[in-house]
Amino acid sequence: MKAVQFTGTGGTDVIEYAEVERPEPGPGEVLVDVKAGALNHVDVWARRGLPGNDLSYPHTPGCDGAGVVEAVGEAIERFAPGDRVAVWPGVSCGTCEFCRRGEPSMCVEYALLGEHLPGVHAEYAAVPEENLVPVPDGVDWATAGAAPLVFGTAWRMLIERGDVSAGETVLVLGASGGVGHAAVQIADHAGATVFATGSSEAKLDAARDLGAEHAIDYEREDFADRVRELTDRRGVDVVVDHVGAATWQDSLRSLAKGGRVLTCGATTGPNPETSIGRIFWNQLQVIGSTMASPGELDRALELVWNGEFEVEVRETLPMSETARGHELLESREGFGKVVLVPDSEL
Ligand code: ZN
Repeated sequence: MKAVQFTGTGGTDVIEYAEVERPEPGPGEVLVDVKAGALNHVDVWARRGLPGNDLSYPHTPGCDGAGVVEAVGEAIERFAPGDRVAVWPGVSCGTCEFCRRGEPSMCVEYALLGEHLPGVHAEYAAVPEENLVPVPDGVDWATAGAAPLVFGTAWRMLIERGDVSAGETVLVLGASGGVGHAAVQIADHAGATVFATGSSEAKLDAARDLGAEHAIDYEREDFADRVRELTDRRGVDVVVDHVGAATWQDSLRSLAKGGRVLTCGATTGPNPETSIGRIFWNQLQVIGSTMASPGELDRALELVWNGEFEVEVRETLPMSETARGHELLESREGFGKVVLVPDSEL
Protein backbone atom coordinates (compact mmCIF):
# COMPACT_ATOMS: atom_id res chain seq x y z
CA MET A 1 0.00 0.00 0.00
CA LYS A 2 0.98 3.64 -0.29
CA ALA A 3 1.59 5.97 2.65
CA VAL A 4 2.83 9.51 3.19
CA GLN A 5 6.28 9.28 4.74
CA PHE A 6 8.67 11.73 6.37
CA THR A 7 12.18 10.48 5.60
CA GLY A 8 13.61 12.73 8.32
CA THR A 9 13.11 16.23 9.72
CA GLY A 10 13.38 19.32 7.56
CA GLY A 11 11.66 21.08 4.67
CA THR A 12 8.91 19.72 2.45
CA ASP A 13 11.53 17.71 0.53
CA VAL A 14 11.46 15.09 3.33
CA ILE A 15 7.87 14.20 2.34
CA GLU A 16 7.32 11.15 0.13
CA TYR A 17 4.36 9.05 -0.95
CA ALA A 18 5.93 5.62 -0.85
CA GLU A 19 5.11 1.93 -1.02
CA VAL A 20 5.07 0.41 2.50
CA GLU A 21 3.79 -2.79 4.06
CA ARG A 22 0.08 -2.78 4.92
CA PRO A 23 -0.33 -2.95 8.72
CA GLU A 24 -2.21 -5.77 10.44
CA PRO A 25 -4.59 -4.79 13.25
CA GLY A 26 -3.15 -5.94 16.58
CA PRO A 27 -5.26 -6.77 19.65
CA GLY A 28 -7.57 -3.85 20.39
CA GLU A 29 -6.90 -2.30 16.97
CA VAL A 30 -9.03 -1.70 13.90
CA LEU A 31 -7.70 -1.57 10.33
CA VAL A 32 -9.22 1.45 8.55
CA ASP A 33 -9.40 1.76 4.75
CA VAL A 34 -8.68 5.51 4.71
CA LYS A 35 -10.91 7.60 2.41
CA ALA A 36 -9.75 11.09 3.47
CA GLY A 37 -7.50 12.82 5.97
CA ALA A 38 -6.65 16.42 6.72
CA LEU A 39 -3.55 18.44 7.47
CA ASN A 40 -3.02 20.26 10.74
CA HIS A 41 -0.21 22.51 11.95
CA VAL A 42 0.96 19.59 14.09
CA ASP A 43 1.94 17.82 10.84
CA VAL A 44 4.14 20.79 9.97
CA TRP A 45 5.72 20.80 13.46
CA ALA A 46 6.32 17.04 13.26
CA ARG A 47 7.98 17.45 9.85
CA ARG A 48 10.25 20.26 11.06
CA GLY A 49 11.14 18.20 14.15
CA LEU A 50 10.18 18.85 17.76
CA PRO A 51 12.67 18.81 20.64
CA GLY A 52 12.27 15.59 22.60
CA ASN A 53 10.13 13.92 19.92
CA ASP A 54 12.44 11.14 18.76
CA LEU A 55 10.69 9.49 15.85
CA SER A 56 11.99 6.57 13.88
CA TYR A 57 12.15 7.21 10.13
CA PRO A 58 10.49 6.83 7.76
CA HIS A 59 7.53 8.15 9.79
CA THR A 60 3.89 8.10 8.66
CA PRO A 61 2.24 11.42 9.64
CA GLY A 62 -1.42 12.33 9.94
CA CYS A 63 -3.65 13.04 12.98
CA ASP A 64 -6.93 13.37 11.13
CA GLY A 65 -8.61 10.78 8.94
CA ALA A 66 -11.76 8.85 8.18
CA GLY A 67 -12.70 5.73 6.29
CA VAL A 68 -14.26 2.27 6.34
CA VAL A 69 -13.37 -0.54 8.75
CA GLU A 70 -11.52 -3.16 6.69
CA ALA A 71 -10.69 -5.67 9.46
CA VAL A 72 -10.62 -5.84 13.24
CA GLY A 73 -8.07 -7.29 15.67
CA GLU A 74 -8.81 -9.43 18.72
CA ALA A 75 -11.31 -8.25 21.33
CA ILE A 76 -13.01 -5.59 19.20
CA GLU A 77 -16.68 -5.22 20.00
CA ARG A 78 -17.70 -1.71 18.94
CA PHE A 79 -16.79 -2.00 15.26
CA ALA A 80 -17.13 -4.48 12.39
CA PRO A 81 -15.93 -4.49 8.77
CA GLY A 82 -17.90 -1.99 6.68
CA ASP A 83 -18.48 0.53 9.51
CA ARG A 84 -17.80 4.19 8.70
CA VAL A 85 -15.39 5.76 11.20
CA ALA A 86 -13.38 8.90 11.91
CA VAL A 87 -10.06 8.93 13.78
CA TRP A 88 -9.21 10.86 16.96
CA PRO A 89 -5.41 11.05 17.42
CA GLY A 90 -5.09 11.40 21.23
CA VAL A 91 -3.68 8.34 23.02
CA SER A 92 -3.67 8.29 26.84
CA CYS A 93 -2.47 5.72 29.38
CA GLY A 94 -5.76 5.31 31.24
CA THR A 95 -4.07 4.84 34.61
CA CYS A 96 -2.25 8.05 35.62
CA GLU A 97 -3.69 10.55 38.12
CA PHE A 98 -5.14 12.71 35.33
CA CYS A 99 -6.63 9.88 33.28
CA ARG A 100 -8.29 8.57 36.44
CA ARG A 101 -9.69 12.04 37.05
CA GLY A 102 -11.35 11.87 33.63
CA GLU A 103 -8.88 14.23 31.93
CA PRO A 104 -7.16 12.08 29.29
CA SER A 105 -5.75 15.12 27.45
CA MET A 106 -3.76 15.89 30.64
CA CYS A 107 -2.30 12.34 30.65
CA VAL A 108 1.36 12.34 31.69
CA GLU A 109 2.08 10.05 28.72
CA TYR A 110 -0.25 11.77 26.25
CA ALA A 111 0.71 11.10 22.63
CA LEU A 112 -0.79 11.79 19.23
CA LEU A 113 -1.15 9.48 16.27
CA GLY A 114 0.91 11.17 13.56
CA GLU A 115 3.02 13.26 15.93
CA HIS A 116 4.54 10.75 18.36
CA LEU A 117 3.06 7.54 16.93
CA PRO A 118 2.47 6.38 13.33
CA GLY A 119 -0.34 8.40 11.77
CA VAL A 120 -3.15 7.82 9.32
CA HIS A 121 -2.16 9.53 6.06
CA ALA A 122 -1.96 6.24 4.20
CA GLU A 123 -4.24 3.90 2.25
CA TYR A 124 -4.71 1.82 5.42
CA ALA A 125 -4.08 2.58 9.09
CA ALA A 126 -4.25 0.36 12.19
CA VAL A 127 -5.85 2.46 14.93
CA PRO A 128 -6.74 1.67 18.58
CA GLU A 129 -10.49 1.03 18.90
CA GLU A 130 -10.91 3.83 21.47
CA ASN A 131 -9.61 6.34 18.90
CA LEU A 132 -12.50 5.74 16.49
CA VAL A 133 -15.83 7.57 16.31
CA PRO A 134 -18.75 6.29 14.19
CA VAL A 135 -19.61 8.45 11.16
CA PRO A 136 -23.26 8.48 10.06
CA ASP A 137 -24.23 7.71 6.44
CA GLY A 138 -24.57 10.89 4.47
CA VAL A 139 -21.57 12.67 6.01
CA ASP A 140 -18.97 13.12 3.24
CA TRP A 141 -15.44 11.81 3.75
CA ALA A 142 -13.77 15.22 3.58
CA THR A 143 -15.96 16.45 6.47
CA ALA A 144 -15.44 13.27 8.50
CA GLY A 145 -11.69 13.28 7.90
CA ALA A 146 -11.13 16.97 8.63
CA ALA A 147 -13.46 17.65 11.59
CA PRO A 148 -12.14 15.70 14.59
CA LEU A 149 -8.95 17.50 15.63
CA VAL A 150 -10.05 21.11 15.08
CA PHE A 151 -13.65 20.82 16.27
CA GLY A 152 -12.71 18.65 19.27
CA THR A 153 -9.89 21.01 20.26
CA ALA A 154 -11.95 24.18 19.78
CA TRP A 155 -14.93 22.71 21.67
CA ARG A 156 -12.88 21.88 24.75
CA MET A 157 -11.08 25.23 24.63
CA LEU A 158 -14.19 27.40 24.33
CA ILE A 159 -16.90 25.42 26.10
CA GLU A 160 -15.15 23.34 28.78
CA ARG A 161 -12.02 25.34 29.58
CA GLY A 162 -13.18 28.82 28.55
CA ASP A 163 -16.78 28.53 29.74
CA VAL A 164 -17.99 30.78 26.90
CA SER A 165 -21.66 31.56 27.40
CA ALA A 166 -24.58 33.41 25.83
CA GLY A 167 -24.28 37.20 25.81
CA GLU A 168 -20.48 37.28 25.99
CA THR A 169 -18.19 38.83 23.39
CA VAL A 170 -15.52 36.57 21.87
CA LEU A 171 -12.66 37.57 19.57
CA VAL A 172 -11.27 34.74 17.41
CA LEU A 173 -7.85 35.44 15.88
CA GLY A 174 -6.89 33.76 12.63
CA ALA A 175 -10.45 32.76 11.82
CA SER A 176 -9.40 31.27 8.48
CA GLY A 177 -7.39 28.43 10.04
CA GLY A 178 -8.84 25.07 11.01
CA VAL A 179 -9.17 25.77 14.74
CA GLY A 180 -10.16 29.39 14.06
CA HIS A 181 -13.06 28.57 11.77
CA ALA A 182 -14.29 25.97 14.26
CA ALA A 183 -14.00 28.46 17.14
CA VAL A 184 -16.09 31.08 15.31
CA GLN A 185 -18.91 28.58 14.86
CA ILE A 186 -18.72 27.20 18.41
CA ALA A 187 -18.73 30.68 19.99
CA ASP A 188 -21.71 31.64 17.82
CA HIS A 189 -23.47 28.39 18.78
CA ALA A 190 -22.89 29.23 22.47
CA GLY A 191 -24.76 32.50 21.96
CA ALA A 192 -21.74 34.81 22.07
CA THR A 193 -21.23 37.83 19.83
CA VAL A 194 -18.24 36.88 17.67
CA PHE A 195 -15.43 39.15 16.47
CA ALA A 196 -13.00 37.56 14.00
CA THR A 197 -9.72 38.60 12.38
CA GLY A 198 -8.47 37.67 8.92
CA SER A 199 -6.10 38.97 6.27
CA SER A 200 -8.26 39.37 3.16
CA GLU A 201 -11.78 40.40 2.22
CA ALA A 202 -12.53 36.83 1.08
CA LYS A 203 -11.46 35.43 4.47
CA LEU A 204 -13.50 38.06 6.33
CA ASP A 205 -16.59 37.24 4.24
CA ALA A 206 -16.12 33.55 5.00
CA ALA A 207 -15.86 34.33 8.73
CA ARG A 208 -19.08 36.38 8.57
CA ASP A 209 -20.84 33.49 6.80
CA LEU A 210 -19.89 31.21 9.71
CA GLY A 211 -21.32 33.56 12.35
CA ALA A 212 -18.88 36.41 12.99
CA GLU A 213 -20.71 39.68 13.58
CA HIS A 214 -17.56 41.83 13.27
CA ALA A 215 -14.71 40.84 10.93
CA ILE A 216 -11.43 42.78 11.21
CA ASP A 217 -8.64 42.85 8.60
CA TYR A 218 -5.57 42.73 10.85
CA GLU A 219 -3.26 43.70 8.00
CA ARG A 220 -5.09 46.99 7.40
CA GLU A 221 -5.86 48.01 10.97
CA ASP A 222 -4.71 47.36 14.53
CA PHE A 223 -7.19 44.71 15.66
CA ALA A 224 -6.97 45.60 19.36
CA ASP A 225 -7.73 49.28 18.62
CA ARG A 226 -10.63 48.23 16.41
CA VAL A 227 -12.03 45.87 19.08
CA ARG A 228 -11.88 48.61 21.71
CA GLU A 229 -13.63 50.99 19.32
CA LEU A 230 -16.36 48.46 18.50
CA THR A 231 -16.95 47.73 22.20
CA ASP A 232 -17.00 51.37 23.29
CA ARG A 233 -13.51 50.98 24.86
CA ARG A 234 -14.63 48.06 27.05
CA GLY A 235 -12.91 45.16 25.27
CA VAL A 236 -14.18 41.62 24.79
CA ASP A 237 -14.78 38.94 27.41
CA VAL A 238 -12.74 36.27 25.64
CA VAL A 239 -9.90 36.18 23.10
CA VAL A 240 -9.07 32.91 21.32
CA ASP A 241 -5.37 33.21 20.41
CA HIS A 242 -3.63 30.26 18.75
CA VAL A 243 -1.35 32.65 16.80
CA GLY A 244 1.10 33.25 19.67
CA ALA A 245 4.07 35.62 19.64
CA ALA A 246 2.77 37.90 16.86
CA THR A 247 -0.54 38.69 18.58
CA TRP A 248 -0.18 38.04 22.32
CA GLN A 249 0.19 41.63 23.57
CA ASP A 250 -2.69 42.82 21.37
CA SER A 251 -4.81 39.91 22.59
CA LEU A 252 -4.32 41.11 26.19
CA ARG A 253 -5.05 44.68 25.05
CA SER A 254 -8.35 43.51 23.44
CA LEU A 255 -9.72 42.09 26.70
CA ALA A 256 -12.24 43.68 29.03
CA LYS A 257 -11.48 43.75 32.75
CA GLY A 258 -11.78 40.20 34.08
CA GLY A 259 -11.42 38.80 30.56
CA ARG A 260 -9.97 35.43 29.54
CA VAL A 261 -7.43 34.63 26.85
CA LEU A 262 -7.66 31.06 25.59
CA THR A 263 -4.70 29.42 23.89
CA CYS A 264 -4.24 26.04 22.23
CA GLY A 265 -1.18 26.81 20.13
CA ALA A 266 1.32 29.38 18.92
CA THR A 267 1.89 29.14 15.20
CA THR A 268 4.06 32.29 15.12
CA GLY A 269 6.17 31.25 18.11
CA PRO A 270 5.69 30.43 21.79
CA ASN A 271 7.72 33.15 23.58
CA PRO A 272 6.08 36.58 23.25
CA GLU A 273 6.69 39.58 25.45
CA THR A 274 3.85 39.79 27.92
CA SER A 275 2.41 42.49 30.09
CA ILE A 276 2.13 41.21 33.64
CA GLY A 277 0.87 44.61 34.78
CA ARG A 278 -2.05 44.39 32.40
CA ILE A 279 -2.79 40.83 33.56
CA PHE A 280 -3.04 41.66 37.28
CA TRP A 281 -4.48 45.16 37.03
CA ASN A 282 -7.22 44.07 34.64
CA GLN A 283 -7.56 40.74 36.49
CA LEU A 284 -7.20 38.67 33.34
CA GLN A 285 -7.08 34.90 33.10
CA VAL A 286 -4.74 33.00 30.77
CA ILE A 287 -6.29 29.59 30.07
CA GLY A 288 -4.49 26.83 28.21
CA SER A 289 -6.25 23.99 26.49
CA THR A 290 -5.19 21.06 24.36
CA MET A 291 -7.06 18.34 22.50
CA ALA A 292 -10.30 17.01 24.08
CA SER A 293 -11.83 14.16 26.01
CA PRO A 294 -13.81 11.52 24.09
CA GLY A 295 -17.05 12.97 25.46
CA GLU A 296 -16.14 16.51 24.36
CA LEU A 297 -15.21 15.17 20.93
CA ASP A 298 -18.53 13.30 20.63
CA ARG A 299 -20.48 16.45 21.47
CA ALA A 300 -18.61 18.58 18.92
CA LEU A 301 -18.83 15.95 16.18
CA GLU A 302 -22.55 15.42 16.76
CA LEU A 303 -22.98 19.07 15.74
CA VAL A 304 -20.75 18.56 12.69
CA TRP A 305 -22.61 15.42 11.64
CA ASN A 306 -26.02 17.12 11.91
CA GLY A 307 -24.87 20.09 9.85
CA GLU A 308 -24.90 22.72 12.62
CA PHE A 309 -21.14 23.17 12.12
CA GLU A 310 -19.52 23.28 8.68
CA VAL A 311 -16.04 22.07 7.81
CA GLU A 312 -14.72 24.49 5.20
CA VAL A 313 -12.30 22.87 2.76
CA ARG A 314 -9.71 25.20 1.22
CA GLU A 315 -8.25 22.52 -1.02
CA THR A 316 -8.42 18.77 -1.63
CA LEU A 317 -5.15 17.19 -2.69
CA PRO A 318 -3.99 13.66 -3.49
CA MET A 319 -1.70 12.32 -0.74
CA SER A 320 1.15 12.33 -3.27
CA GLU A 321 0.92 16.17 -3.16
CA THR A 322 1.15 16.44 0.65
CA ALA A 323 4.15 18.78 0.30
CA ARG A 324 1.91 21.31 -1.48
CA GLY A 325 -0.53 21.04 1.44
CA HIS A 326 2.23 21.87 3.93
CA GLU A 327 3.07 24.95 1.83
CA LEU A 328 -0.58 26.07 1.92
CA LEU A 329 -0.58 25.87 5.74
CA GLU A 330 2.78 27.58 6.09
CA SER A 331 1.80 30.45 3.79
CA ARG A 332 -1.68 30.84 5.41
CA GLU A 333 -3.32 30.67 2.00
CA GLY A 334 -7.04 30.05 1.86
CA PHE A 335 -9.82 29.41 4.39
CA GLY A 336 -10.45 26.17 6.27
CA LYS A 337 -8.92 22.72 6.00
CA VAL A 338 -6.54 21.11 3.52
CA VAL A 339 -7.96 17.64 2.83
CA LEU A 340 -5.77 14.76 1.65
CA VAL A 341 -7.14 11.76 -0.25
CA PRO A 342 -5.21 8.57 -1.11
CA ASP A 343 -4.34 8.78 -4.82
CA SER A 344 -6.09 5.43 -5.37
CA GLU A 345 -9.39 6.96 -4.17
CA LEU A 346 -9.35 9.81 -6.71
ZN1 ZN B 1 -2.69 8.91 31.73
